Amino acid sequence: MLLHDTLTRTDRPLHPLDGKTLRIYCCGPTVYGPAHIGNFRTFVVQDVFRRTVELGGTPTLHVRNITDVDDKTIRDSQKAGQTLGSFTAEWTAKFHADCEALNLLRPHVEPSAVAHIPHQIAMIEKLMASGHAYKAEDGSVYFKVGAFHEYGALSHLEKREIRLGAAQTDSDEYSKESMADFALWKARKDEDGVNFWASPWGEGRPGWHLECSAMILEYLGTEFDLHSGGVDLIFPHHENEIAQSCCSTGGKFASHWFHIAHLMVDGGKMSKSLGNLFTLADLQAKGYTAAEVRYVLISGHYRAPLNFTFHTLDSARQALQKLAKHEASLRAKYGAGGAPKYDDLIRHGSAGVFADAWALLTNDLNVPGALGAVFGAIKDADSTAFDVETAKSRWMDLHFVLGALGVILPEAQPDAEAPAEVVALAEQRWAAKQSKDWAAADKFRDELAALGWTTKDSKTEYKLIPL
Ligand code: AMP
Ligand code: ZN
Repeated sequence: MLLHDTLTRTDRPLHPLDGKTLRIYCCGPTVYGPAHIGNFRTFVVQDVFRRTVELGGTPTLHVRNITDVDDKTIRDSQKAGQTLGSFTAEWTAKFHADCEALNLLRPHVEPSAVAHIPHQIAMIEKLMASGHAYKAEDGSVYFKVGAFHEYGALSHLEKREIRLGAAQTDSDEYSKESMADFALWKARKDEDGVNFWASPWGEGRPGWHLECSAMILEYLGTEFDLHSGGVDLIFPHHENEIAQSCCSTGGKFASHWFHIAHLMVDGGKMSKSLGNLFTLADLQAKGYTAAEVRYVLISGHYRAPLNFTFHTLDSARQALQKLAKHEASLRAKYGAGGAPKYDDLIRHGSAGVFADAWALLTNDLNVPGALGAVFGAIKDADSTAFDVETAKSRWMDLHFVLGALGVILPEAQPDAEAPAEVVALAEQRWAAKQSKDWAAADKFRDELAALGWTTKDSKTEYKLIPL
């Protein structure tokens, strides 16, 4: 498989360093509220990546952390009048429920930051001993960015940009020697309440960047295959992880960097601080399914920002119906039961007639290209003309590709007949369109959509399609 690598800016093949298992680390959620579907774009794309690697025949070791101690979790647990532990446990459980609904494979290891404070302290001790860290007057400990010459290699930032970026992200830290230095240990502050731990430098808590470095060392060792997150993590978070890990272990850290572009709303990044977010629950309350949300999240290439609209959800519903109908027609011919299990697909090990889709998927995870190839291959395939053996192998091949994408098919619905009221509206819209009365045509289109219908127009006629 070829995958773009953020560090070298090239598409590089993936081969496990140990010759057996691809060892992957993904930065996990900060559990201080519901994860939004922007966060889930990153987690779902990582899931498609893992599935593609595994179905391609390489086992993985997938580690994804839970950030359950940082400024935001502490602040919001206090606002909620809960202990940090009970507050983050509730949001972690909600995160897991959403992951399950979105058909994400569970990571093999899901370590919690708060359960690894001794590991983080041990890493700071090494950095102090090697001269890469210093203690400030208030008892905080900082990483000395100037002592690590490769700093900035991942994000390709110049020194000045690093200083400016760091000034924006860590504006509350005045006691450090240089603007670019970042906190490894934050001295206890009154506003942290009871959320502090003992350390050789006094009471306090670890800086946010440190947890990933410490847990990677514990579960994946000094060198591992692939590190991933959303593009916002490249700087400073991943740059800081590299600095901490390389300077404390002497290892090379991640050999491949995989970053996912943002989910956008109206041209801006979907984020909690901008208040423009949708959660899975928000969309389910509007009648959409988790399978439809997942389909939208994978439908754009992971390296390009993806604009979220309700129109894309409606299109996802139609696309899933097309796939479900084709699957049902193969199943009818073949006489099979439910969908094959993931392990059966790993044993099957081939995309067969969907080889074109598979080639696109394994070439820098081109999911939209792969979906297009699947639709191309099923467009003119008449299942009734297949013999049982052909139907059976095509059915398995289809599930193989859908298994890599983690697509869950809905029940195939028979083509619905439009009620008279809908046909009348469609006729009025068509007449308005013919007389170039666009405002009226749009109004009728909205009314049709409200009734769950849309139309597909050619030059001479229209076809009614259920949404
Ligand atoms: P957080 O819970 O804020 O630590 O973020 C969890 C993951 O979601 C990280 O990998 C972020 O980079 C990613 N992320 C945050 N916002 C978005 C977005 N709008 N689109 C895609 N990924 C995002
Ligand atoms: Zn991280």
